[in-house]
Amino acid sequence: MAKGKLFIVGLGPGEARYLIPEASDALSEAEALYGYQPYLERIPAREGQARHPSDNREELVRAGAALAHAAGGARVAMVSGGDPGVFAMAAAVIEAIEAGPAEWRALDLVIVPGITAMLAVAAKCGAPLGHDFCAISLSDNLKPWEVIEKRLRLAAQAGFAMAFYNPVSKARPHQLDTAFDILRAELPVGVPVIFGRAVGRPDERMRVVPLGHARGHMADMATCIIVGSPETRLVERPGLPALVYTPRRAGDE
Ligand code: SAH
Repeated sequence: MAKGKLFIVGLGPGEARYLIPEASDALSEAEALYGYQPYLERIPAREGQARHPSDNREELVRAGAALAHAAGGARVAMVSGGDPGVFAMAAAVIEAIEAGPAEWRALDLVIVPGITAMLAVAAKCGAPLGHDFCAISLSDNLKPWEVIEKRLRLAAQAGFAMAFYNPVSKARPHQLDTAFDILRAELPVGVPVIFGRAVGRPDERMRVVPLGHARGHMADMATCIIVGSPETRLVERPGLPALVYTPRRAGDE
């Protein structure tokens, strides 16, 4: 039996030009593709390549199905938006391997990185992540909301710029406003807040507002938010959007 192989491939934030060449190679080599339906739709169809789309909430089930398929001898690719290791499928697959049959540990596993949303958003507006930063998912599907509140407070106190993934959902419409209120208690109201929506796609939209004006309705699930540190500032330019940047040196405490 042919030796199976599982690629976990990052598609980047949007269009194919953001794909790294190693990801394109993996997608051509795969006999079967697994992933959330909208991500699979980004990949041009290829004859003989099977597709196994799934719902966004079934990550562990999807990971197990792809692993079982690869363990049967096939070359399988699991796709993720952005980078597969950032709030995405690589950790779900490894979680399944940790709990699964011994043969899954023997599989040839290749994780192909992609451009994660915060880096695409940062590049569109300047260099807001030019100094120390952290990334926080605001979804409370996999952790209690109290943990998120604590991390927001401590990250703000520590002087990090912050990138927020999964900022809102229908199930929790008010939490992002609560998050901004927590940050306003810790940070100057002038700190720039960047809302980068659908970056790298045709409906991309960028908006920068001071923390004092940041509101939950400015984001949806396709938005990655970057909140600056107290050092983050705007460099105005004539007839062009201001550059948002965080200087490489931090001030003395
Ligand atoms: N693995 C992905 C993140 C998955 S979590 C990555 O590395 O980018 C899903 C969240 O990612 C969304 O709620 C949003 O916050 C962010 N996101 C994904 N694609 C985006 C894009 N094109 N523009 C802005 N944010 C995006």
